Amino acid sequence: MEYKRSSELFVEANKVIPGGVNSPVRAFKAVGGTPLFIKEAKEAYLYDEDGNKYIDYINSWGPMILGHAYEPVVNAVIERAKKGTSFGTPTELETKIAALAISMVPNIDKIRFVSSGTEACMSAIRLARGFTRREKIIKFSGCYHGHSDSFLIAAGSGASTFGVPNSPGVTEGTAKDTLLANYNDIDNVKQLFESNKNEIAALIIEPVAGNMGCIPPKKGFLEQLREVCSENGALLVFDEVMTGFRLAKGGAQELYGVDADIVCFGKVIGGGLPVGAFAAREEIMNYLSPLGPVYQAGTLSGNPLAMAAGYEMLKVLNEDNAIFQRLEEKTAYLEKGINEVLSENKMDFTINRIGSMISVHFDSSPVFDFETAKNGDNETFKKFFHGLLQKGVYIAPSAYETWFITDALTYEDLNYTIKAIKDVAVEL
Ligand code: PMP
Repeated sequence: MEYKRSSELFVEANKVIPGGVNSPVRAFKAVGGTPLFIKEAKEAYLYDEDGNKYIDYINSWGPMILGHAYEPVVNAVIERAKKGTSFGTPTELETKIAALAISMVPNIDKIRFVSSGTEACMSAIRLARGFTRREKIIKFSGCYHGHSDSFLIAAGSGASTFGVPNSPGVTEGTAKDTLLANYNDIDNVKQLFESNKNEIAALIIEPVAGNMGCIPPKKGFLEQLREVCSENGALLVFDEVMTGFRLAKGGAQELYGVDADIVCFGKVIGGGLPVGAFAAREEIMNYLSPLGPVYQAGTLSGNPLAMAAGYEMLKVLNEDNAIFQRLEEKTAYLEKGINEVLSENKMDFTINRIGSMISVHFDSSPVFDFETAKNGDNETFKKFFHGLLQKGVYIAPSAYETWFITDALTYEDLNYTIKAIKDVAVEL
């Protein structure tokens, strides 16, 4: 495959956009080479500016759970746009999508819409701090909750030390209020609570981590976090930006039967438009302005186009109960296929999967936290990535990302992908 036009466009983009991209991982820095400039997409496929076709396993990093250019969503956006794209006033549509989301997700009474997952998590933490009148938070090494300051803290060793900013621009003052814990390590979490008695406002977690590859919670881990938070008067915040409306209608809360205090959404809830949201029981949500003292706002929050796309998406997910079962089956089929072909070739690898989130680490020992995720062989990953790209299979350009499976994938696509992986494994 040739990437001539993409290469030219990347040169032009670099002149006017830092690194040529509006979000860093798109630049292919971890794997090298030229990022693909995508011209259009339909169902499970991407088409780049050079006319190449790819089976897409990124799916806009999660939102396109029903495939690209999904007609009901596209039509809803077109019809809505004809009537005006933004008013800065309440609309009926916002109440409709809010009521629908609340009916699908366990344990939430009210929801507020924002324009990204970052905003959702940032606002959730401010709300938790306001509600508990405490300042510190616990986050897990390797979990990503968007790029607001409190979350951009070095993954470090995950020891019970204060965080250190890992981006210039994040002040030490901010970083000291973010405590780091190791994913799947309940003792570590308990120590942090012990040494910061009555100071921790919230613990935020990706209930299935998707930003260090896919890492599921160990059995009982989420339940233990629930217990520890309740005992210590801290709020449990589930960042369901990836898992929400993907692992089940009610996300990870439903799948694992654990209730969080605040839940953050993004990706699927916007049907491919810029949407995030956070939700909780009434007592907590009423702390938000204009009812309560915690300020939070947005010119384009609840934007009509975004709400039209999200509403249509949620309606389909709500009405077709078989979607999540189909996603499970397709992803399990893919997992089995990859397992077979990589084993045949005696590769060192670990596959982690929950529902339609799956990742392949090139290391044979179990991957259950950030440290073990970092053991993967990056050189092998790079070759694997480019080998697949050449064969028309587009996976995330970093070993630390999850693949997102879409319902638009056919078994023919999955078989093609497994064969491509087999061929790449032989070449490796
Ligand atoms: N939380 C999680 C779990 C995410 O995966 C992401 C983005 N990948 C975010 C928050 C931030 O969302 P956004 O990029 O929409 O700001």
